[in-house]
Amino acid sequence: LPIVFHKKILVLGLAKSGTAAAEILHDLGAFVTVNDSKPFEQNENAQYLLSKGLTVICGSHPEDLLDEGFSLIVKNPGIPYTNPVVAEANKRGIPVWTEVELAYRISEAPMIGITGSNGKTTTTTLIFEMLAAANKKPKIAGNIGTVATSVAKEATEDNIIVTELSSFQLMGTEDLKPKVSVLLNLYEAHLDYHRDFQEYTDAKFKITQKQDASDWLVFNGEQQIVKDYAQKSNASKIPFYVSGKTKDGISADDLYVYWNGEQLFNRSIIALRGKHNLENALAATATALMMNCSVEAIIQVLSTFHGVKHRTQFIREWKGRKFYNDSKATNALATKSALEGFTEPVILIAGGVDRGHSFDELIPYLNRVKALVHYGATKDRLQKFGEAQRIPSVVSVQTLGEAFEMATEVSSDGDIILLSPACASWDQYESFEIRGEEFINRVISLEE
Ligand code: ADP
Repeated sequence: LPIVFHKKILVLGLAKSGTAAAEILHDLGAFVTVNDSKPFEQNENAQYLLSKGLTVICGSHPEDLLDEGFSLIVKNPGIPYTNPVVAEANKRGIPVWTEVELAYRISEAPMIGITGSNGKTTTTTLIFEMLAAANKKPKIAGNIGTVATSVAKEATEDNIIVTELSSFQLMGTEDLKPKVSVLLNLYEAHLDYHRDFQEYTDAKFKITQKQDASDWLVFNGEQQIVKDYAQKSNASKIPFYVSGKTKDGISADDLYVYWNGEQLFNRSIIALRGKHNLENALAATATALMMNCSVEAIIQVLSTFHGVKHRTQFIREWKGRKFYNDSKATNALATKSALEGFTEPVILIAGGVDRGHSFDELIPYLNRVKALVHYGATKDRLQKFGEAQRIPSVVSVQTLGEAFEMATEVSSDGDIILLSPACASWDQYESFEIRGEEFINRVISLEE
């Protein structure tokens, strides 16, 4: 491929994506140097690439690295732009890509890109499932699936690559031009490690920057900042609205989902709970329609998809109680979204690392919470919060296991038992996934 052949390229950061990118560039005939801060002796990826004939520099990011005369840098999204090598490259005008730009350039398949502050994984998964149900041979890439460059290399023009794009990945793009881009929402709470909100939102906008009228931008028609950005895009536009029927785009009221104001299907077929998930469902439906999926295929997925693992994921009904695992909810905003989705009485299991964040965001949705069972480092604060908000029953225990037992004990027919901790997991768990697994296992083990 002419874009890389015989070029001297530096790959910065050897996580999974950097390693795959380096190997593919090497196979495409580039002269690749890789640089990683982890020392060579402990660096399996570096050892592997050395054995393949790449140049390997490990242990630090030497300042004179760029004197080698690279014409391109591919960097891991996690390496900040303040890194001396990256900053120097910017000064010298050397392009700095992330791996998704490379994936886009080597791919024969059209790409669908999904970004936003919240809902990326859910929407990406929904789109993938819809395309699969319609036999469009999708491949999922990036955060959830396989490394994007590896997927891109194997994909043919008959495939469709569906990829979740973080703002960090998007910052390192140049020509990326998805067939359909989805911009779900932009929340200030999600600044991550960006310099400021402007840098963050500008990065998100890069998802549509190169699109033209033959491409589509699916975006949140009810969020002003997203609308402002969408206006600057040259793509054909499909707004989504969850607060009632509209004449344009895709919209929903309590009864139906509408396409350009015409009934598309009953809203009640959507298995996912919550207004936020309705956004995700509408965005996915619009995308699938633009990729020529049948409405039947879309309905099939919407009516059976109960959520990505650990994201308000329905596990099981047991003696009239329904169990949901929302371990991914590591802050109050996410727990709020989960609560919003239920009208039934909820027994909420929460707690974990105490970052000192307020739980006030939950207040408008506490009317359905009949009991709060909490555990972990946030114990004292959650106890005070629950009592102050007059939740009928507030119980403090040590572990998730105890919380689970207490929650089942106080539950009755028709209740929702929801793990949505509003806190990070690492006071007692290695990750939110492991926390969620423990909950799932306990739910599955309940005897009839
Ligand atoms: P991401 O991949 O962007 O982190 P996920 O799909 O994993 O998003 O969802 C994470 C959490 O964010 C969910 O458990 C839910 O609480 C919340 N969420 C999901 N979709 C939305 C949305 N469209 N708007 C607001 N919050 C959402």
